[in-house]
Amino acid sequence: MMTDHQTIDGLRSGRLGRRLVFGMLVAVLLCGGHPTTLGAATPAPEYDWKVGAASAVITPSEPMWLAGYAARNKPSEGKIHDLRAKALAIEDPQGTHLVIVTLDLLGISRAVRDRLETEVTRGYGLPPEGLLINVSHTHCGPVMRETRYSVYGNTLYGLSPEDVKRCQRYADGLQETLVQLVGQAFKDMTPATLSYSHARAGFAMNRRARVEDDYQIQPNPDGPVDHDVPVLRVDGPDGELRAVLFGYACHGTTLNFYKFCGDYAGFAQEVLESSHPGAVALFVAGCGGDQNPYPRRGPRSLEYCGEHGRALANAVEAALTARARPLAGPIRAAIEEVTLDFAAPPDRQTLEQQIESKNTYERRHAQALLDELEETGRIASTYPYLVQVIDFGDDLTFVGLSGEVVVDYSLRLKAELTGRPLWVAGYCNDVFGYLPSRRVLQEGGYEGGGAMVYTPLPGPFAPSVEQRVIGKVHELIDKVRVSEGQ
Ligand SMILES: [Zn+2]
Repeated sequence: MMTDHQTIDGLRSGRLGRRLVFGMLVAVLLCGGHPTTLGAATPAPEYDWKVGAASAVITPSEPMWLAGYAARNKPSEGKIHDLRAKALAIEDPQGTHLVIVTLDLLGISRAVRDRLETEVTRGYGLPPEGLLINVSHTHCGPVMRETRYSVYGNTLYGLSPEDVKRCQRYADGLQETLVQLVGQAFKDMTPATLSYSHARAGFAMNRRARVEDDYQIQPNPDGPVDHDVPVLRVDGPDGELRAVLFGYACHGTTLNFYKFCGDYAGFAQEVLESSHPGAVALFVAGCGGDQNPYPRRGPRSLEYCGEHGRALANAVEAALTARARPLAGPIRAAIEEVTLDFAAPPDRQTLEQQIESKNTYERRHAQALLDELEETGRIASTYPYLVQVIDFGDDLTFVGLSGEVVVDYSLRLKAELTGRPLWVAGYCNDVFGYLPSRRVLQEGGYEGGGAMVYTPLPGPFAPSVEQRVIGKVHELIDKVRVSEGQ
């Protein structure tokens, strides 16, 4: 469609022009378009929500190790663009609050979530279920581990004690920034409407390819994907887009160099904010644990990254064009732990063999487990897994899962929970490692259990993992809907 104002004005100046304009209108009608002058009048929206948005730069001020790839061997060298933390504070028509914090980081630990939760409960009266944190999983953000590795002097990335202290300083500074950011978002709250729509983007591809008897990280065009791009839009009474929260299920792994960068999600947010001056764009990572952006890496990786960002931003624009579903509220949220069992851990004898391993990570992992055994007399057999559910009345349900969630979870939940739009996010609140489905666990490979060697956790989950998580999601949804009287 031609939309350039000057071009249309130019065409209007002559008879041929009038014919062309008429022809274009006919074409619009035949193509199913809705020229606004011919559309049915819609009732004026009621601005009975209040929403505030805030954004802060969280790029480290000094070089730091970059998180996500074990193969990196030196700290960061500059940046492509700034990493950001953003907060969206929402008050529903009944006065219930929800704050969504998004971060251009690889992950956050449960400790970071708990500290922020304590601060915002104390400072702003926000209940725990009203705080959702999501990370984009960019692999060009700083390492900020707070795990047993550093406690036992045995770090995942082989960091020096000085590097570990730098990570701690960064984590402490981030904490302060986030508390202030939430405060700013609350202060910014003004009347708004909320609505939901969605579109699709196609650059995520399943990355679990069967190679002989194993599963390796390679593009698998036949594997499951979730190309949905859910979009929550916030409009002010002046008709301006004030904020847009959007999601996608894909790893932030287009790039693997040594510069700070938000990967495709960082570019998508940048594109949207420059197309909508004054609006804050917030990215929410979906269940992309087994999804990679393709093409990726190599000498053209930055170009690919910008293109993926543009593709995602275009999908968001497409969703903004579509008729959106207004959200009426109320917000009803719940956050609870479900206990996940690990498979039986290796015994002491096996661990003692593994500390002689040639594989550095296997050696460090075995040592961490032996240290744990020494210190506590046992190796943890369960994990307290966080599940969060947020209902926006009967117009939208948001499920926030922790960890690197594989795509089977969002596909299964979307098949089971029909009747209203469902948004399933991974990488929420506690990014401890991968959350495999039963299928992925049985198949094995990196997301099935192989990646546990990069965490302080003992090893793969037990086969009950998927049912426990799905069961908890259903339980929490039933709980919030009962409280809505639905
Ligand atoms: Zn990952």
